[in-house]
Amino acid sequence: MTAQPQTAPITQDLVTIPRKLPEGGRVNLIGMTRAQLREALIGAGTPERQAKMRTGQIWQWLYHWGVRDFAQMTNLAKDYRAMLAEHFEIALPEIVTKQVSADGTRKYLLRIAGGHEVETVYIPEENRGTLCISSQVGCTLTCSFCHTGTQKLVRNLTAGEIVGQVMLARDDLGEWPQPGAPKDETRLVSNVVLMGMGEPLYNFENVRDAMAVVMDGEGLSLSRRRITLSTSGIVPEIARTAEEIGCLLAVSFHATTDEVRDRLVPINKKWNIAALLDALRDYPRLSNSERITFEYVMLDGVNDSDEDARRLVKLIRGIPAKINLIPFNEWPGAPYKRSSWERIEAFADIIYKAGYASPIRTPRGEDIMAACGQLKSATERGRKSRAEIAAEVAG
Ligand code: SAH
Ligand code: SF4
Repeated sequence: MTAQPQTAPITQDLVTIPRKLPEGGRVNLIGMTRAQLREALIGAGTPERQAKMRTGQIWQWLYHWGVRDFAQMTNLAKDYRAMLAEHFEIALPEIVTKQVSADGTRKYLLRIAGGHEVETVYIPEENRGTLCISSQVGCTLTCSFCHTGTQKLVRNLTAGEIVGQVMLARDDLGEWPQPGAPKDETRLVSNVVLMGMGEPLYNFENVRDAMAVVMDGEGLSLSRRRITLSTSGIVPEIARTAEEIGCLLAVSFHATTDEVRDRLVPINKKWNIAALLDALRDYPRLSNSERITFEYVMLDGVNDSDEDARRLVKLIRGIPAKINLIPFNEWPGAPYKRSSWERIEAFADIIYKAGYASPIRTPRGEDIMAACGQLKSATERGRKSRAEIAAEVAG
C-alpha cells in the first residue's frame, strides 16, 4: 500500500506496483532515487565503500547518456556489469502508438505493467518544448469538464513510470547527448508539466521521487523552475509540495464561487476556495518560487462572466500569480461548450487591467485529442456511475 494522506480516504485502496518485476525477478533501476539505487547496489553485493561511486557512474549512464544496456557502461569492470545484468533491469514503459498533430504536438500512448495505458504529450514551441506527463492511470476525482475524470482510477504510476515518460520522449526526439559533441543548450524537452492524466498530489511519494531524478544535475538535469505540478487543490499536500519537491505550482481554480467550483471541481466540497487560497498564500515563500499559475477553464455561460473575472482578481489579491485561461477542449459527450473568443478576451482584459498576466492557452494537438483534459486511455473507457461519483465526492 502507498502511504496515502489520512485526509484523503478515497485513495486508500491504491496499490503501487512493487519495484520487483515478475520476469526473472530482476529489479528495475529506473525511478530509484540515488539513495535507493545505492541500497540496491549494496544489496546485490557492491562493497559499501564503492557504493557511492558506482551509484554515480550508473546514474550518469542511465540519465545523462540514456544507456539501456549494462554492457555499454564501459567504465565498469566486465564482471561487475554482468552482476548488474543478473540482478537488475533498465525498464521503461512501452510506446504503443505515437500520433503527430498538424501543429507538431506529439501524443504517445504508453503501456505499463499490468497492461494499463497512459498518455504523454510533447508540445514544441518556438523557444521551448514542454512535456506533459501523467501521474496516474485515470483519476479518482471527477471534475465534470475533464475527460480523464470520466475514467476510473486504475492505479498510481510508479516513480519509474513517471521518469520513463521523460526518457521515452528524449528517445523519440533523439535528444540524448552524443559522446564528444558540444553541449547543446537548446533542449527539446526543456520543461515538464504534471498536467496529464491523474492528480499528482494523490501519488505524492512517487511524483516526488520521480521529480528528484528528473532534476538531478548529473542526469536529466531539468531545473525545478522548469517543472510545473498542477493540482485540483489537495490542500494538505500543498506545503509538502513546496518543501519536498520545490517545483512551480499550478492550481486548477476554474470558478469564483464555492457553488460553481463544487460542480466543476468536486474536491472543492472537501477543501473550499478559502481553504485552498490559504494554502496557496504560503507556497511562494515555502518553495522560493515567484508565482503560482491559476488555471481557469473557460466554459460558456458557466464561469466566464465579467463578474467572475472581477471576483477572481479580488480572491487572489496578495498572491503572486499568473492566470492561465484555458479555452475548454471538447471531448465526445462533454457537458459544456467553449466560451466564445470575444468572451475569453473580455475576461482576459479585466484580469490584465488588474495587473495580472493573463495568457490564453492556445489549444494544441486538438486533432489528435491531445489538448488539456482530453486524455483518456481508449482501452479503459469504463465510465463511473452517478452513484460512484457521488460517493467519491462525499468521501
Ligand atoms: N489533475 C491535475 C492535473 C491534470 S489536468 C489538475 O486537475 O490540476 C491539467 C489542466 O487541464 C487542469 O487545469 C484541468 O482542470 C484542465 N482541464 C481538464 N479538462 C479540460 C478540458 N476539457 N479543457 C480544458 N482544460 C481542461
Ligand atoms: Fe482528475 Fe485533474 Fe481531470 Fe480533475 S481535472 S478529473 S483532478 S485529471
